[in-house]
Amino acid sequence: MKVLYVSAELFPLLKTGGLADVSAALPPALSALGADVRVLLPAFAALQAGVTPIGKPVPLPAGVPLAGGPEPHTPPWLHLPPGVGPTPASAGGTAPWLRAGYVSASGQPVLLLHAPGLYEQGDHPYHDAHGHAWANSAERFAWLGWAAALLGAGLDPAWKPDVVHGHDWHTGLAFAYLHALQGDTTPARTAAARAPTRGSHRARRVFTVHNLAYQGVFAPEVRTPLGLPDALFHLQGLEFHGQVSFMKAGLQYSDAITTVSPRYAREITTPEQGCGLDGVLRERQGVLHGILNGVDQAVWNPAADPQVQPGYSANDLSGKALAKARLQRELGLHDSPQSLLCGVVSRLTHQKGLHLLGPLLDDWVARGGQLAVLGSGDADTVQPLADAAQRHPGHIALHLGYDEALAHRLVAGVDVMLVPSLYEPCGLTQLYGLRYGSLPLVRAVGGLADTVTDCSLENLDDGSASGFVFHDFSSEALHAAWRRALALYRRPADWQAVQRHAMGQCFDWASAARATLAVYQPPAPADPSTGTPPAS
Ligand code: ADP
Repeated sequence: MKVLYVSAELFPLLKTGGLADVSAALPPALSALGADVRVLLPAFAALQAGVTPIGKPVPLPAGVPLAGGPEPHTPPWLHLPPGVGPTPASAGGTAPWLRAGYVSASGQPVLLLHAPGLYEQGDHPYHDAHGHAWANSAERFAWLGWAAALLGAGLDPAWKPDVVHGHDWHTGLAFAYLHALQGDTTPARTAAARAPTRGSHRARRVFTVHNLAYQGVFAPEVRTPLGLPDALFHLQGLEFHGQVSFMKAGLQYSDAITTVSPRYAREITTPEQGCGLDGVLRERQGVLHGILNGVDQAVWNPAADPQVQPGYSANDLSGKALAKARLQRELGLHDSPQSLLCGVVSRLTHQKGLHLLGPLLDDWVARGGQLAVLGSGDADTVQPLADAAQRHPGHIALHLGYDEALAHRLVAGVDVMLVPSLYEPCGLTQLYGLRYGSLPLVRAVGGLADTVTDCSLENLDDGSASGFVFHDFSSEALHAAWRRALALYRRPADWQAVQRHAMGQCFDWASAARATLAVYQPPAPADPSTGTPPAS
Protein backbone atom coordinates (compact mmCIF):
# COMPACT_ATOMS: atom_id res chain seq x y z
CA MET A 1 0.00 0.00 0.00
CA LYS A 2 1.40 3.39 -1.02
CA VAL A 3 0.84 6.16 1.53
CA LEU A 4 1.40 9.87 1.03
CA TYR A 5 1.87 11.17 4.57
CA VAL A 6 1.53 14.97 4.69
CA SER A 7 2.84 17.06 7.58
CA ALA A 8 4.35 20.45 8.40
CA GLU A 9 6.88 19.10 10.93
CA LEU A 10 9.31 16.21 11.27
CA PHE A 11 11.43 15.38 14.32
CA PRO A 12 14.37 15.96 14.74
CA LEU A 13 14.65 18.39 11.84
CA LEU A 14 11.73 20.72 12.59
CA LYS A 15 9.59 20.43 15.70
CA THR A 16 7.23 22.72 17.57
CA GLY A 17 5.29 19.95 19.37
CA GLY A 18 4.02 16.40 19.31
CA LEU A 19 3.11 16.57 15.61
CA ALA A 20 6.81 16.30 14.72
CA ASP A 21 7.32 13.28 16.98
CA VAL A 22 4.37 11.50 15.39
CA SER A 23 5.54 12.30 11.83
CA ALA A 24 8.92 10.76 12.63
CA ALA A 25 7.58 7.64 14.32
CA LEU A 26 4.38 6.59 12.56
CA PRO A 27 5.72 6.36 8.95
CA PRO A 28 8.49 3.86 9.85
CA ALA A 29 6.02 1.90 11.96
CA LEU A 30 3.71 1.72 8.94
CA SER A 31 6.64 0.74 6.72
CA ALA A 32 7.50 -2.07 9.13
CA LEU A 33 4.02 -3.46 8.40
CA GLY A 34 4.66 -3.36 4.67
CA ALA A 35 3.41 0.10 3.64
CA ASP A 36 5.41 2.25 1.20
CA VAL A 37 5.30 5.66 2.91
CA ARG A 38 6.55 8.97 1.57
CA VAL A 39 6.33 12.06 3.77
CA LEU A 40 5.42 15.28 1.98
CA LEU A 41 6.69 18.41 3.74
CA PRO A 42 7.24 22.07 2.91
CA ALA A 43 10.94 22.68 2.20
CA PHE A 44 11.56 24.80 5.29
CA ALA A 45 15.29 25.49 5.69
CA ALA A 46 15.67 23.06 8.63
CA LEU A 47 14.07 20.29 6.59
CA GLN A 48 16.14 20.97 3.49
CA ALA A 49 19.28 20.81 5.62
CA GLY A 50 18.50 17.30 6.83
CA VAL A 51 17.31 15.76 3.56
CA THR A 52 19.45 14.22 0.83
CA PRO A 53 17.75 14.96 -2.51
CA ILE A 54 17.45 12.35 -5.24
CA GLY A 55 16.15 12.60 -8.79
CA LYS A 56 15.15 15.73 -10.62
CA PRO A 57 12.87 18.52 -9.40
CA VAL A 58 9.29 18.14 -10.66
CA PRO A 59 7.45 21.42 -11.40
CA LEU A 60 4.12 21.67 -9.66
CA PRO A 61 1.21 22.76 -11.87
CA ALA A 62 -0.63 25.76 -10.51
CA GLY A 63 -4.38 26.15 -10.63
CA VAL A 64 -5.97 27.07 -13.96
CA PRO A 65 -7.26 30.67 -13.84
CA LEU A 66 -11.01 31.01 -14.24
CA ALA A 67 -10.60 33.47 -17.11
CA GLY A 68 -7.57 34.51 -19.14
CA GLY A 69 -3.95 34.04 -18.07
CA PRO A 70 -1.48 31.45 -19.30
CA GLU A 71 -2.32 27.74 -18.97
CA PRO A 72 0.04 26.18 -16.40
CA HIS A 73 2.14 23.22 -17.38
CA THR A 74 -0.08 20.25 -16.58
CA PRO A 75 0.55 16.59 -17.36
CA PRO A 76 -2.03 15.41 -19.88
CA TRP A 77 -3.36 12.69 -17.54
CA LEU A 78 -4.37 15.27 -14.91
CA HIS A 79 -7.51 17.24 -15.51
CA LEU A 80 -7.45 20.59 -13.70
CA PRO A 81 -10.83 22.29 -13.83
CA PRO A 82 -10.63 26.10 -14.12
CA GLY A 83 -10.76 27.95 -10.82
CA VAL A 84 -9.36 25.08 -8.75
CA GLY A 85 -5.93 25.35 -7.13
CA PRO A 86 -3.66 28.19 -6.02
CA THR A 87 -2.49 30.68 -8.62
CA PRO A 88 1.22 31.12 -9.43
CA ALA A 89 1.12 34.63 -7.91
CA SER A 90 0.06 33.16 -4.54
CA ALA A 91 3.42 31.34 -4.32
CA GLY A 92 5.24 34.64 -4.11
CA GLY A 93 6.08 34.78 -7.78
CA THR A 94 8.15 31.60 -8.17
CA ALA A 95 6.50 28.43 -9.44
CA PRO A 96 6.84 25.71 -6.74
CA TRP A 97 8.39 22.33 -7.41
CA LEU A 98 8.68 18.93 -5.72
CA ARG A 99 11.92 17.18 -4.97
CA ALA A 100 12.18 13.58 -3.80
CA GLY A 101 14.79 12.63 -1.22
CA TYR A 102 15.33 10.85 2.05
CA VAL A 103 16.04 12.00 5.57
CA SER A 104 19.81 11.74 5.73
CA ALA A 105 19.88 10.33 9.27
CA SER A 106 17.02 7.81 9.06
CA GLY A 107 16.58 7.03 5.36
CA GLN A 108 12.86 7.93 5.50
CA PRO A 109 11.69 8.75 1.94
CA VAL A 110 10.32 12.27 1.71
CA LEU A 111 9.05 14.72 -0.86
CA LEU A 112 9.94 18.34 -0.24
CA LEU A 113 7.73 21.07 -1.64
CA HIS A 114 9.94 23.97 -2.63
CA ALA A 115 8.43 27.42 -2.90
CA PRO A 116 11.09 30.06 -2.30
CA GLY A 117 8.43 32.74 -2.04
CA LEU A 118 6.71 30.89 0.81
CA TYR A 119 8.98 28.72 2.91
CA GLU A 120 12.25 30.56 3.27
CA GLN A 121 11.15 33.27 5.65
CA GLY A 122 12.14 32.78 9.33
CA ASP A 123 12.93 29.66 11.32
CA HIS A 124 9.48 28.93 12.71
CA PRO A 125 6.95 27.27 10.41
CA TYR A 126 3.92 29.14 11.74
CA HIS A 127 4.88 32.51 13.17
CA ASP A 128 7.50 35.23 13.43
CA ALA A 129 9.75 35.96 16.40
CA HIS A 130 6.92 37.94 18.07
CA GLY A 131 4.47 35.05 17.82
CA HIS A 132 2.44 36.64 15.00
CA ALA A 133 1.29 34.18 12.35
CA TRP A 134 3.10 34.63 9.04
CA ALA A 135 1.12 36.90 6.73
CA ASN A 136 1.26 34.22 4.04
CA SER A 137 0.13 31.33 6.29
CA ALA A 138 -2.86 30.55 4.06
CA GLU A 139 -0.69 30.40 0.93
CA ARG A 140 2.05 28.38 2.70
CA PHE A 141 -0.31 25.58 3.54
CA ALA A 142 -2.65 25.87 0.58
CA TRP A 143 0.31 24.92 -1.61
CA LEU A 144 1.11 22.00 0.67
CA GLY A 145 -2.49 20.82 0.29
CA TRP A 146 -2.39 21.40 -3.45
CA ALA A 147 0.78 19.34 -3.85
CA ALA A 148 -0.80 16.54 -1.81
CA ALA A 149 -3.99 16.69 -3.87
CA LEU A 150 -2.12 16.54 -7.19
CA LEU A 151 -0.07 13.57 -6.01
CA GLY A 152 -3.25 11.93 -4.70
CA ALA A 153 -4.88 12.47 -8.09
CA GLY A 154 -1.97 10.78 -9.87
CA LEU A 155 0.56 13.54 -10.69
CA ASP A 156 3.39 10.99 -10.62
CA PRO A 157 2.39 8.00 -12.79
CA ALA A 158 5.24 5.99 -11.25
CA TRP A 159 3.98 6.44 -7.68
CA LYS A 160 0.25 6.89 -7.20
CA PRO A 161 -0.62 6.77 -3.50
CA ASP A 162 -3.45 4.54 -2.33
CA VAL A 163 -3.90 6.86 0.64
CA VAL A 164 -3.39 10.57 1.23
CA HIS A 165 -3.00 10.99 4.98
CA GLY A 166 -2.92 14.65 6.09
CA HIS A 167 -2.14 15.95 9.57
CA ASP A 168 -3.72 18.98 11.21
CA TRP A 169 -5.09 22.11 9.60
CA HIS A 170 -1.93 22.68 7.56
CA THR A 171 -3.02 19.85 5.29
CA GLY A 172 -6.80 20.34 5.35
CA LEU A 173 -7.04 21.92 1.90
CA ALA A 174 -5.60 18.77 0.32
CA PHE A 175 -9.00 17.21 0.82
CA ALA A 176 -10.95 20.20 -0.48
CA TYR A 177 -8.77 20.30 -3.61
CA LEU A 178 -9.18 16.55 -4.11
CA HIS A 179 -12.91 16.99 -3.84
CA ALA A 180 -12.84 19.85 -6.33
CA LEU A 181 -10.61 17.86 -8.71
CA GLN A 182 -12.39 14.55 -8.38
CA GLY A 183 -15.79 15.27 -6.87
CA ASP A 184 -17.56 12.77 -4.60
CA THR A 185 -17.95 12.00 -0.89
CA THR A 186 -19.71 14.85 0.91
CA PRO A 187 -22.31 15.37 2.03
CA ALA A 188 -23.86 11.97 1.34
CA ARG A 189 -20.56 10.09 1.30
CA THR A 190 -22.23 7.03 -0.15
CA ALA A 191 -20.24 4.05 -1.34
CA ALA A 192 -21.41 4.68 -4.89
CA ALA A 193 -20.12 8.24 -4.73
CA ARG A 194 -16.66 7.07 -3.74
CA ALA A 195 -15.62 6.37 -7.33
CA PRO A 196 -13.75 9.28 -8.92
CA THR A 197 -15.81 11.30 -11.32
CA ARG A 198 -12.77 12.56 -13.20
CA GLY A 199 -9.40 10.92 -13.79
CA SER A 200 -8.70 7.31 -13.08
CA HIS A 201 -6.84 7.40 -9.76
CA ARG A 202 -8.67 7.80 -6.49
CA ALA A 203 -6.62 7.76 -3.28
CA ARG A 204 -8.38 7.18 0.02
CA ARG A 205 -8.42 10.39 2.08
CA VAL A 206 -7.52 10.22 5.76
CA PHE A 207 -7.22 13.30 7.95
CA THR A 208 -5.75 13.33 11.46
CA VAL A 209 -6.55 15.96 14.09
CA HIS A 210 -3.66 16.46 16.48
CA ASN A 211 -5.18 19.57 18.04
CA LEU A 212 -8.62 20.84 17.08
CA ALA A 213 -8.02 24.26 18.63
CA TYR A 214 -5.63 25.32 15.86
CA GLN A 215 -7.87 25.57 12.81
CA GLY A 216 -6.28 27.72 10.10
CA VAL A 217 -9.16 30.14 9.61
CA PHE A 218 -8.73 32.88 7.01
CA ALA A 219 -10.69 35.73 5.44
CA PRO A 220 -13.08 34.68 2.65
CA GLU A 221 -11.05 36.71 0.12
CA VAL A 222 -8.33 34.01 0.10
CA ARG A 223 -10.67 31.87 -1.99
CA THR A 224 -9.64 33.56 -5.23
CA PRO A 225 -5.83 33.33 -4.96
CA LEU A 226 -6.09 29.85 -3.46
CA GLY A 227 -8.50 28.62 -6.12
CA LEU A 228 -11.23 27.40 -3.78
CA PRO A 229 -14.43 27.25 -5.82
CA ASP A 230 -17.60 28.87 -4.46
CA ALA A 231 -19.18 25.42 -4.56
CA LEU A 232 -17.08 24.49 -1.50
CA PHE A 233 -17.99 27.62 0.49
CA HIS A 234 -21.05 26.57 2.45
CA LEU A 235 -22.05 25.08 5.78
CA GLN A 236 -21.38 21.49 4.67
CA GLY A 237 -18.07 22.56 3.13
CA LEU A 238 -15.15 24.65 4.32
CA GLU A 239 -17.09 27.77 5.31
CA PHE A 240 -16.83 28.57 9.02
CA HIS A 241 -18.74 31.63 10.22
CA GLY A 242 -18.14 33.37 6.91
CA GLN A 243 -14.44 32.50 6.87
CA VAL A 244 -12.40 29.78 5.18
CA SER A 245 -11.40 27.01 7.61
CA PHE A 246 -8.61 24.65 6.57
CA MET A 247 -9.44 22.38 9.52
CA LYS A 248 -13.08 22.14 8.48
CA ALA A 249 -11.99 21.31 4.91
CA GLY A 250 -10.07 18.34 6.28
CA LEU A 251 -13.01 17.21 8.39
CA GLN A 252 -15.60 17.58 5.61
CA TYR A 253 -13.76 16.26 2.58
CA SER A 254 -11.89 13.27 4.01
CA ASP A 255 -13.14 9.67 3.89
CA ALA A 256 -11.98 8.95 7.43
CA ILE A 257 -10.83 11.09 10.36
CA THR A 258 -8.51 9.99 13.10
CA THR A 259 -7.39 11.72 16.24
CA VAL A 260 -4.74 10.84 18.75
CA SER A 261 -6.64 9.19 21.59
CA PRO A 262 -10.00 7.44 21.98
CA ARG A 263 -11.11 9.85 24.71
CA TYR A 264 -10.31 12.96 22.62
CA ALA A 265 -12.25 11.40 19.73
CA ARG A 266 -15.31 11.45 21.98
CA GLU A 267 -14.58 14.83 23.57
CA ILE A 268 -14.36 16.73 20.28
CA THR A 269 -17.93 15.75 19.46
CA THR A 270 -19.12 17.79 22.47
CA PRO A 271 -19.74 21.57 22.57
CA GLU A 272 -17.22 21.92 25.45
CA GLN A 273 -14.28 20.52 23.47
CA GLY A 274 -15.47 20.79 19.87
CA CYS A 275 -14.03 24.28 19.24
CA GLY A 276 -17.12 25.14 17.20
CA LEU A 277 -16.73 22.02 15.03
CA ASP A 278 -18.48 19.52 17.29
CA GLY A 279 -21.55 19.52 15.04
CA VAL A 280 -19.43 18.54 12.03
CA LEU A 281 -17.69 15.88 14.09
CA ARG A 282 -20.96 14.46 15.39
CA GLU A 283 -22.13 14.13 11.79
CA ARG A 284 -18.91 12.35 10.92
CA GLN A 285 -18.77 10.19 14.05
CA GLY A 286 -19.17 7.02 11.97
CA VAL A 287 -15.75 7.57 10.36
CA LEU A 288 -14.00 9.15 13.38
CA HIS A 289 -11.36 6.97 15.07
CA GLY A 290 -9.26 7.57 18.19
CA ILE A 291 -5.81 5.99 17.86
CA LEU A 292 -3.41 6.54 20.71
CA ASN A 293 0.06 7.88 19.94
CA GLY A 294 3.03 5.79 20.99
CA VAL A 295 6.50 6.33 22.39
CA ASP A 296 9.40 6.12 19.97
CA GLN A 297 11.59 3.57 21.75
CA ALA A 298 14.61 4.61 19.72
CA VAL A 299 14.37 8.14 21.12
CA TRP A 300 12.80 7.72 24.57
CA ASN A 301 14.36 4.78 26.39
CA PRO A 302 15.92 5.31 29.85
CA ALA A 303 18.21 2.30 29.41
CA ALA A 304 19.82 3.68 26.25
CA ASP A 305 19.38 7.45 26.37
CA PRO A 306 22.65 9.28 25.64
CA GLN A 307 21.45 12.09 27.91
CA VAL A 308 20.96 9.68 30.84
CA GLN A 309 24.17 7.90 31.68
CA PRO A 310 24.27 5.49 33.38
CA GLY A 311 20.93 4.34 32.01
CA TYR A 312 18.37 2.62 34.17
CA SER A 313 15.45 0.23 33.98
CA ALA A 314 12.51 -0.93 36.08
CA ASN A 315 14.76 -3.61 37.59
CA ASP A 316 17.53 -1.20 38.55
CA LEU A 317 16.47 2.35 39.29
CA SER A 318 19.84 3.49 40.69
CA GLY A 319 20.59 5.48 37.51
CA LYS A 320 17.41 7.44 38.10
CA ALA A 321 18.59 8.73 41.48
CA LEU A 322 21.81 9.90 39.80
CA ALA A 323 19.81 11.57 37.02
CA LYS A 324 17.85 13.48 39.68
CA ALA A 325 20.96 14.65 41.49
CA ARG A 326 22.55 15.78 38.19
CA LEU A 327 19.42 17.62 37.11
CA GLN A 328 19.19 19.42 40.45
CA ARG A 329 22.79 20.58 40.08
CA GLU A 330 22.32 21.58 36.44
CA LEU A 331 19.25 23.70 37.20
CA GLY A 332 20.57 25.23 40.43
CA LEU A 333 18.13 23.32 42.64
CA HIS A 334 19.17 22.13 46.10
CA ASP A 335 20.74 18.71 45.91
CA SER A 336 18.13 17.01 48.04
CA PRO A 337 17.03 13.45 47.22
CA GLN A 338 14.08 13.62 49.64
CA SER A 339 12.43 16.63 47.89
CA LEU A 340 9.59 15.65 45.58
CA LEU A 341 10.82 17.08 42.26
CA CYS A 342 8.08 17.81 39.72
CA GLY A 343 8.88 18.58 36.09
CA VAL A 344 7.25 20.20 33.08
CA VAL A 345 8.35 20.08 29.42
CA SER A 346 5.78 22.01 27.49
CA ARG A 347 4.54 24.83 25.39
CA LEU A 348 3.60 27.41 28.02
CA THR A 349 0.09 28.21 26.80
CA HIS A 350 -3.31 28.38 28.46
CA GLN A 351 -4.11 24.89 27.13
CA LYS A 352 -1.39 23.34 29.26
CA GLY A 353 -2.93 24.60 32.54
CA LEU A 354 0.34 25.68 34.10
CA HIS A 355 -1.20 28.91 35.35
CA LEU A 356 -2.94 26.69 37.92
CA LEU A 357 0.46 26.30 39.60
CA GLY A 358 0.84 30.00 40.46
CA PRO A 359 -1.17 30.03 43.73
CA LEU A 360 0.32 26.71 44.88
CA LEU A 361 4.05 27.08 44.60
CA ASP A 362 4.76 28.88 47.90
CA ASP A 363 2.99 26.05 49.73
CA TRP A 364 4.74 23.35 47.70
CA VAL A 365 8.12 24.82 48.55
CA ALA A 366 7.15 25.12 52.22
CA ARG A 367 6.31 21.41 52.19
CA GLY A 368 9.68 20.54 50.63
CA GLY A 369 8.68 20.33 46.99
CA GLN A 370 10.75 21.34 43.98
CA LEU A 371 9.73 22.26 40.43
CA ALA A 372 11.69 22.30 37.15
CA VAL A 373 10.04 23.82 34.07
CA LEU A 374 11.36 23.73 30.51
CA GLY A 375 9.26 25.53 27.94
CA SER A 376 8.39 28.67 26.10
CA GLY A 377 5.19 30.48 25.34
CA ASP A 378 2.75 33.11 26.50
CA ALA A 379 3.71 35.88 28.91
CA ASP A 380 0.70 35.31 31.18
CA THR A 381 1.82 31.71 31.79
CA VAL A 382 5.54 32.48 31.92
CA GLN A 383 5.44 35.47 34.30
CA PRO A 384 3.97 33.77 37.41
CA LEU A 385 6.47 30.93 36.98
CA ALA A 386 9.33 33.39 36.58
CA ASP A 387 8.19 35.27 39.71
CA ALA A 388 8.01 32.02 41.69
CA ALA A 389 11.48 30.98 40.50
CA GLN A 390 12.82 34.34 41.68
CA ARG A 391 11.10 34.01 45.07
CA HIS A 392 12.35 30.46 45.59
CA PRO A 393 15.87 29.98 44.21
CA GLY A 394 17.07 26.44 44.82
CA HIS A 395 13.48 25.17 44.83
CA ILE A 396 11.96 26.32 41.54
CA ALA A 397 13.85 26.46 38.23
CA LEU A 398 12.48 27.88 35.00
CA HIS A 399 14.40 27.27 31.78
CA LEU A 400 12.87 29.23 28.92
CA GLY A 401 13.47 28.00 25.39
CA TYR A 402 13.42 24.82 23.40
CA ASP A 403 16.06 22.24 24.34
CA GLU A 404 15.66 18.62 23.23
CA ALA A 405 18.64 17.30 25.23
CA LEU A 406 17.54 19.02 28.45
CA ALA A 407 14.02 17.63 27.89
CA HIS A 408 15.49 14.11 28.15
CA ARG A 409 17.54 14.93 31.24
CA LEU A 410 14.51 16.54 32.85
CA VAL A 411 12.11 13.68 32.14
CA ALA A 412 14.68 11.26 33.57
CA GLY A 413 15.60 13.36 36.60
CA VAL A 414 12.22 14.36 38.02
CA ASP A 415 9.99 12.28 40.27
CA VAL A 416 6.74 13.53 38.75
CA MET A 417 5.83 14.83 35.28
CA LEU A 418 3.10 17.48 35.55
CA VAL A 419 0.53 17.76 32.76
CA PRO A 420 -2.47 19.66 34.21
CA SER A 421 -3.99 20.49 30.80
CA LEU A 422 -7.32 22.12 30.11
CA TYR A 423 -7.58 19.73 27.19
CA GLU A 424 -5.00 17.32 25.78
CA PRO A 425 -5.53 15.42 22.51
CA CYS A 426 -2.99 12.76 23.48
CA GLY A 427 -0.04 14.29 25.29
CA LEU A 428 3.41 12.80 24.95
CA THR A 429 5.29 13.98 28.03
CA GLN A 430 3.12 11.87 30.37
CA LEU A 431 3.99 8.85 28.18
CA TYR A 432 7.68 9.73 28.41
CA GLY A 433 7.22 10.13 32.17
CA LEU A 434 5.71 6.65 32.43
CA ARG A 435 8.57 5.18 30.40
CA TYR A 436 11.18 6.89 32.61
CA GLY A 437 9.51 6.07 35.95
CA SER A 438 8.66 9.75 36.48
CA LEU A 439 5.07 9.35 37.60
CA PRO A 440 2.67 11.57 35.64
CA LEU A 441 0.35 13.93 37.52
CA VAL A 442 -2.37 14.76 35.00
CA ARG A 443 -5.84 16.13 34.56
CA ALA A 444 -8.42 13.54 33.45
CA VAL A 445 -8.86 14.75 29.87
CA GLY A 446 -8.12 13.35 26.41
CA GLY A 447 -5.12 11.11 26.09
CA LEU A 448 -4.06 11.88 29.66
CA ALA A 449 -7.17 10.11 30.95
CA ASP A 450 -6.57 7.22 28.53
CA THR A 451 -2.99 6.60 29.63
CA VAL A 452 -2.61 7.32 33.37
CA THR A 453 -4.24 5.33 36.17
CA ASP A 454 -4.64 7.14 39.47
CA CYS A 455 -2.90 6.04 42.65
CA SER A 456 -6.19 5.53 44.46
CA LEU A 457 -6.02 2.99 47.26
CA GLU A 458 -7.87 0.40 45.21
CA ASN A 459 -5.59 0.92 42.18
CA LEU A 460 -2.53 0.72 44.40
CA ASP A 461 -3.96 -2.45 45.88
CA ASP A 462 -4.48 -4.18 42.54
CA GLY A 463 -1.21 -2.90 41.04
CA SER A 464 -2.77 -0.86 38.23
CA ALA A 465 -1.77 2.61 39.51
CA SER A 466 0.68 4.54 37.34
CA GLY A 467 0.31 8.22 38.35
CA PHE A 468 -1.95 10.88 39.83
CA VAL A 469 -5.17 12.04 38.21
CA PHE A 470 -7.38 15.03 39.09
CA HIS A 471 -10.61 16.17 37.52
CA ASP A 472 -11.65 19.82 38.10
CA PHE A 473 -9.62 22.37 36.17
CA SER A 474 -8.68 24.19 39.38
CA SER A 475 -5.62 24.86 41.50
CA GLU A 476 -7.38 23.16 44.44
CA ALA A 477 -7.85 19.89 42.55
CA LEU A 478 -4.26 19.98 41.27
CA HIS A 479 -3.04 20.65 44.79
CA ALA A 480 -4.93 17.69 46.22
CA ALA A 481 -3.34 15.38 43.62
CA TRP A 482 0.09 16.80 44.41
CA ARG A 483 -0.50 16.17 48.14
CA ARG A 484 -1.28 12.55 47.33
CA ALA A 485 1.92 12.32 45.27
CA LEU A 486 3.90 13.73 48.19
CA ALA A 487 2.31 11.26 50.60
CA LEU A 488 3.15 8.32 48.34
CA TYR A 489 6.69 9.60 47.79
CA ARG A 490 7.22 9.26 51.54
CA ARG A 491 6.52 5.53 51.20
CA PRO A 492 9.47 4.54 48.98
CA ALA A 493 8.52 0.88 48.57
CA ASP A 494 5.04 1.80 47.33
CA TRP A 495 6.45 4.56 45.13
CA GLN A 496 8.89 2.17 43.49
CA ALA A 497 6.18 -0.42 42.91
CA VAL A 498 4.18 2.19 41.01
CA GLN A 499 7.31 3.27 39.11
CA ARG A 500 7.96 -0.30 38.00
CA HIS A 501 4.39 -0.74 36.84
CA ALA A 502 4.49 2.59 34.98
CA MET A 503 7.74 1.68 33.21
CA GLY A 504 6.26 -1.63 32.11
CA GLN A 505 3.35 0.04 30.29
CA CYS A 506 3.54 -0.41 26.56
CA PHE A 507 2.50 2.50 24.35
CA ASP A 508 4.10 1.33 21.14
CA TRP A 509 3.92 2.68 17.62
CA ALA A 510 3.34 -0.80 16.17
CA SER A 511 -0.16 -0.88 17.72
CA ALA A 512 -0.91 2.64 16.43
CA ALA A 513 0.35 1.66 12.97
CA ARG A 514 -1.87 -1.45 12.89
CA ALA A 515 -4.91 0.62 13.81
CA THR A 516 -3.97 3.26 11.21
CA LEU A 517 -3.60 0.62 8.48
CA ALA A 518 -7.11 -0.59 9.31
CA VAL A 519 -8.40 2.95 8.72
CA TYR A 520 -6.52 3.06 5.39
CA GLN A 521 -8.55 0.09 4.16
CA PRO A 522 -11.60 1.24 2.22
CA PRO A 523 -14.91 -0.01 3.61
CA ALA A 524 -16.44 -2.96 1.81
CA PRO A 525 -18.63 -1.82 -1.09
CA ALA A 526 -22.35 -1.71 -0.49
CA ASP A 527 -24.57 -4.46 -1.90
CA PRO A 528 -26.06 -2.78 -5.01
CA SER A 529 -29.37 -4.64 -4.58
CA THR A 530 -29.96 -3.48 -1.00
CA GLY A 531 -27.57 -0.52 -0.66
CA THR A 532 -26.30 -1.97 2.63
CA PRO A 533 -22.70 -2.93 3.36
CA PRO A 534 -22.01 -6.65 3.89
CA ALA A 535 -22.04 -7.90 7.48
CA SER A 536 -18.52 -8.16 8.81
P1 ADP B 1 1.86 19.53 22.10
O1 ADP B 1 1.96 18.78 20.80
O2 ADP B 1 0.49 20.01 22.44
O3 ADP B 1 2.88 20.61 22.22
P2 ADP B 1 2.69 17.00 23.31
O4 ADP B 1 2.84 16.59 24.73
O5 ADP B 1 1.86 16.14 22.43
O6 ADP B 1 2.18 18.51 23.30
O7 ADP B 1 4.13 17.06 22.62
C1 ADP B 1 5.09 17.99 23.02
C2 ADP B 1 6.43 17.52 22.50
O8 ADP B 1 7.29 18.66 22.43
C3 ADP B 1 7.11 16.53 23.41
O9 ADP B 1 7.97 15.71 22.64
C4 ADP B 1 7.92 17.44 24.34
O10 ADP B 1 9.01 16.76 24.90
C5 ADP B 1 8.36 18.51 23.37
N1 ADP B 1 8.63 19.83 23.94
C6 ADP B 1 7.71 20.77 24.30
N2 ADP B 1 8.33 21.88 24.74
C7 ADP B 1 9.66 21.63 24.67
C8 ADP B 1 10.82 22.39 25.01
N3 ADP B 1 10.73 23.63 25.49
N4 ADP B 1 12.04 21.83 24.81
C9 ADP B 1 12.12 20.56 24.32
N5 ADP B 1 11.07 19.79 23.99
C10 ADP B 1 9.85 20.32 24.16
